Amino acid sequence: MLIQKPKGTYDLLPEKARQRYFLETKVRENFEIYNFSEIRTPTFEKTELFKRGIGEETDIVSKEMYTFKNDEFTLKPEMTAPVIRAYIENNLNNESPLQKLFYITNMFRRERPQAGRFREFSQFGAESIGSNDPYCDAEMIILADSIIRSFGIDDSIIKLNTIGTAAERDVFFVEFKNYLSNYLNELSPDSQRRFVINPLRILDTKNPGDLKILKDAPVLYNFLNDETKGNFEKILDILTVNGIEFETDNRLVRGFDYYTSTTFEFISDALGAQNALLGGGRYDLLIQQLGGKPTPAIGFAAGIERLLMIMESKELLPDNNDELKLFIVSMGEESKKFSFKMLENLRNIGVKCETDFLNRSVKSQMKEANRSKAEFVIVIGDEEIKSNSVKLKKMSDGSEVTVSGFENIKFFLDK
Ligand code: AMP
Repeated sequence: MLIQKPKGTYDLLPEKARQRYFLETKVRENFEIYNFSEIRTPTFEKTELFKRGIGEETDIVSKEMYTFKNDEFTLKPEMTAPVIRAYIENNLNNESPLQKLFYITNMFRRERPQAGRFREFSQFGAESIGSNDPYCDAEMIILADSIIRSFGIDDSIIKLNTIGTAAERDVFFVEFKNYLSNYLNELSPDSQRRFVINPLRILDTKNPGDLKILKDAPVLYNFLNDETKGNFEKILDILTVNGIEFETDNRLVRGFDYYTSTTFEFISDALGAQNALLGGGRYDLLIQQLGGKPTPAIGFAAGIERLLMIMESKELLPDNNDELKLFIVSMGEESKKFSFKMLENLRNIGVKCETDFLNRSVKSQMKEANRSKAEFVIVIGDEEIKSNSVKLKKMSDGSEVTVSGFENIKFFLDK
């Protein structure tokens, strides 16, 4: 029986792989301009890192991790915890008090696959470690916006919120849980579970019944102190001054325990149910939670598959540019020997060219040259070998020039 790929994974065939490369190149260019440096970490980490760094009661840790070797190791389901682990382990704070890092990598989560949701997927993201300056929050959001816009996507919506400090949230939880306890039986099973282990996440719900109940629930923002609110207002002000449009959304929370104050999300209507394109926020508590010195930090991660889906639907992806410059048609052993040498010489001076490896007839080689959209064709026969000169045929108009010497061929190919 044919062996198929695991559920929730996908193959990137050449056309898609090329689009992916295009996207990654643009992402890198943006990070470079904003002075972020790349970091790469192992594909798997100690399971403990994610338990401590994400939170045991989150969906990711409680049910979506690919864990092996008696639970010792886990394929990375996100990158913030690994980046912070590397930051602490390598004492990056000694190199510079503000570390601006980015990554482009694949992730693994055992989720229910659907459009825009995979079990192996890719993200690019950034972490800015060492500052709690509101300008740092603004820089992250502006950088994320600039990357999304550099792809030609100009209709994603930026949502912003602040979830305050752990102490402020604790005061809110008392009132919030008090209110919800009147409706406990009416809440969805997910929200009932979260009521006990992670009440903030109830605000994340998409369940219509839950949303109705939440309409009159106490609002977290009203429990935040003036400093937190003032800080948030300052970020909004910086964004406005810099021409960034956004919406505030007091139900926007992040699923991870280590988030503090700013949270943000970019959403797109083009995506359907899985409408989140990019998510991020401040996580001032994570570094100490992972054994480092208390250090403020903020980051974001964007889903590459979802970005490509939007770009495809809006026809923002570049055309395939895998056309050959030249196809060399050979006939017989001597011709093949000559053709192969010519091929290698031309490749050495940077010409994208191809010849036949299937001993096909001249006719089917010409067909192949057409199929691969070769701009020029050369046929190597006895005459060409003897005179060491070739006829370069331009496929678009059938015109021919006789040329000798590889450098001359290159000259005509480039003309
Ligand atoms: P998160 O790490 O959960 O905050 O997700 C950040 C971004 O990654 C989301 O906004 C999505 O675009 C993307 N993402 C998360 N989970 C998946 C998945 N299972 N498949 C594809 N993209 C995902």
